[in-house]
Amino acid sequence: MWVQTTQNHPISSASALSRPIEGIYKAPPLHWVGDGFRVAGYFSSIPDALRKLDPFLLLDYHPAHTYSPTDRPRGVGVHPHRGFETVTIAFQGSVAHHDSTGAGGVIGPGDVQWMTAASGILHKEYHEAGWAAQGGPFQMAQLWVNLPKAHKMDPPQYQPIVANQMGVVSLPENAGEIRVIAGETFGVKGPAKTHTPISLLDVRLHAKGHLALPFPSSYNVGMLVMQGEARLGETHTIVQHDFVVFEHSDDPIRIEAASDTQLLMLAGEPIREPVVSYGPFVMNTEREIQQAFADFRSGKFGHLED
Ligand code: MN
Repeated sequence: MWVQTTQNHPISSASALSRPIEGIYKAPPLHWVGDGFRVAGYFSSIPDALRKLDPFLLLDYHPAHTYSPTDRPRGVGVHPHRGFETVTIAFQGSVAHHDSTGAGGVIGPGDVQWMTAASGILHKEYHEAGWAAQGGPFQMAQLWVNLPKAHKMDPPQYQPIVANQMGVVSLPENAGEIRVIAGETFGVKGPAKTHTPISLLDVRLHAKGHLALPFPSSYNVGMLVMQGEARLGETHTIVQHDFVVFEHSDDPIRIEAASDTQLLMLAGEPIREPVVSYGPFVMNTEREIQQAFADFRSGKFGHLED
């Protein structure tokens, strides 16, 4: 089998095999979430994304955009979530959040907030007031991560992870570095606790830097090119704002950066349970969605002032 695989790839040596690519997708048009988040919802342009990228449900990427100063912070008002986790990754600018449990906080540059909505919360997300008063470039990503059925109705919780808690891998030959948010990469563990096996990585490569990044064959793997241009495997070129979906394979992802490049890697063991979603609720059955609406209307998600 191994020999046959090698013969099917007309490249120089077996050691150069790169994890095969399912597709390279261009950014969909930007849309506003509230008046503070100007995002590309990548999964909307990927056919069958929920299967190919299980356990990930959504990736809203806010490319760098400069906001003018304001004393009325922009953002999105009170809304519910149930059945999954929202992971907010700030690159530039600061986001403040408040929720119906009374919790709140600020997600600043380099920080990640891993919020397990689970049985349900109400929250609002805004540009942090002090930052909004100054204005400036703002760049962030929000990922929705599904929960297995066994954990969808757990109590909500937060993991506020600040920049200096991230695992850091310094790549050999000054190729760059990997900030490990979740999972283990080259022996370095990320701080986020996950309900299913997940790797979430912020990869920075210098121009001409090489990387061979392994993930378990069973993981679904996606990659957002936030900045730069690179060669992927032997034959593909990827550019800023491309999103790559990979096939299952034991081969590592081989990347050679043509310019300074920043990549967001999302990889995880698929949950393989039915997904029934309606807006901010992601459950396993239609009945559970109806229950989420009923609970929301009857105040079971708590209360939060707008
Ligand atoms: Mn939200």
